Amino acid sequence: MTYDKHYYDGTWQSSTGGETIAVISSATEQEVARVPRGTAEDVDRAVKAARRGFESWRRLPVEERAQWLEKLSAAMKTRVPRIAEAIAHEVGTAIGFATKVQAEFPIMMIGMNAKFIRETKLEEELGNSLVIKEPIGVVGCVTPWNYPLHQVVCKIAPALAAGCAVVLKPAEMAPLSALMLADAAHEIGLPKGVLNVVSGSGRVVGEAIVAHPDVDMVSFTGSLQAGRRIASVAGEGIKKVCLELGGKSAFVVLDDAPFDKAIPAGVNNCMQNSGQTCSAWTRMLVPRSRHDEAVEFAKGQLAKLTLGDPFDKNTRLGPLASAAQRDSVLGFIEQGKKEGATVVAGGGKPANLPTGFYVEPTIFAHVDNKMTIAQEEIFGPVLAIIPYGSEADAIAIANDSQYGLAGGVWGGTNERALEVAKQLRTGQVDINGGRFNALAPFGGYKKSGIGREIGPLAIEEYFQLKSIQR
Ligand code: NAP
Ligand code: MG
Repeated sequence: MTYDKHYYDGTWQSSTGGETIAVISSATEQEVARVPRGTAEDVDRAVKAARRGFESWRRLPVEERAQWLEKLSAAMKTRVPRIAEAIAHEVGTAIGFATKVQAEFPIMMIGMNAKFIRETKLEEELGNSLVIKEPIGVVGCVTPWNYPLHQVVCKIAPALAAGCAVVLKPAEMAPLSALMLADAAHEIGLPKGVLNVVSGSGRVVGEAIVAHPDVDMVSFTGSLQAGRRIASVAGEGIKKVCLELGGKSAFVVLDDAPFDKAIPAGVNNCMQNSGQTCSAWTRMLVPRSRHDEAVEFAKGQLAKLTLGDPFDKNTRLGPLASAAQRDSVLGFIEQGKKEGATVVAGGGKPANLPTGFYVEPTIFAHVDNKMTIAQEEIFGPVLAIIPYGSEADAIAIANDSQYGLAGGVWGGTNERALEVAKQLRTGQVDINGGRFNALAPFGGYKKSGIGREIGPLAIEEYFQLKSIQR
């Protein structure tokens, strides 16, 4: 798998730089591909192409834009096995999950945006005004590596639906599915300049996109640290930003919850994609009186999540995405031990998997919410079980975080769980096993971000409003 060019202005373009970036397999630690290391000059060319592309794309009837999205989705469907394989290498995602969640799901979301834009009301009468939604312009998209295609689609599908043109920089560590998307766009003959992809580093390509005067909006997913930098650079240019940042989400298990169902669901949620999930319920809040019982259920479930080669069909949890990610996660585990939390499962590197960036799925019990492992986003397979006293304590602990991205509540009744869910300062809450909904807006309270992605409401982020009085 080698992509030696960027994609902009409707064609594959050589980088003005000449350097490349190696893509490393999380499982084998070997190079699996190379992509160009883009430059600020590449970005400038791509943005100019996007500007030209925008002028005609925004004028296309909604129905035509919708049909392009459907064609793009169809062209991507033929690439599912290649996408899943690439992401299993890049991220370490187990192949079954990679196929369904990393490949098929985002491809379906591309098509869903066709329906969303068809159903969006673009004009409204308000008194003597006609209020029109117009696309914001050229959108710079910068995405992380953990759900690489999903995070790209969360931005480009609503942006294109709204009539915007896009310049995308995928993560250095996981750029391949974004380049396959460009390949699919090229194959269907998507009008030139509408979707532009420049691979490279955040420091060079990312910054150049965010700072470019012809970029009207920046949509970013990634860490709080990079988000802060991006917001300030975009602020200089008075650009709209959408930020999807980190999380430290709490799963509140109420005293009347069925532990046999709730605890395994919480463990699965936390460990999904080996914990490299921004919305993961990494803090499990359990009544102090039932703490030890919760630990037993959690250990029982964890034992079912086989760690191993992401290409083995029996594997549930693969390695982490990189050596740096593994070392960072191991560092947090050591910190948790030092601060006095009790390891009840895992706690280090697996002895039987010497090659690949593996970390044992780990459960800490008797965690205090003030500890580092309860406050910092670890982004690995590490669950912190935190005992609480009253229901009010549970809510206070859940909200005692700089983040507010997701969360869960499980109670004896839906009514009780709903009452607690309403008190959590977070963008999403699943109660009593409520499933992920591809129509529901997703995004953060507090330092988890600004703006929303996913579903029909995400398109609204890519509009600006014009009022015409008559
Ligand atoms: P990251 O370091 O923030 O990188 C995200 C993207 O931003 C990458 O493409 C990166 O380039 C680029 N970047 C870094 N610094 C930049 C800068 N100054 N200007 C422009 N672009 C810049 O995050 P990560 O390590 O890839 O991903 C893990 C983090 O993302 C976690 O904190 C996780 O919670 C968060 N995340 C949030 C969500 C959400 O929806 N809220 C979803 C997924 C992940 P490189 O490729 O060179 O690093
Ligand atoms: Mg990074």
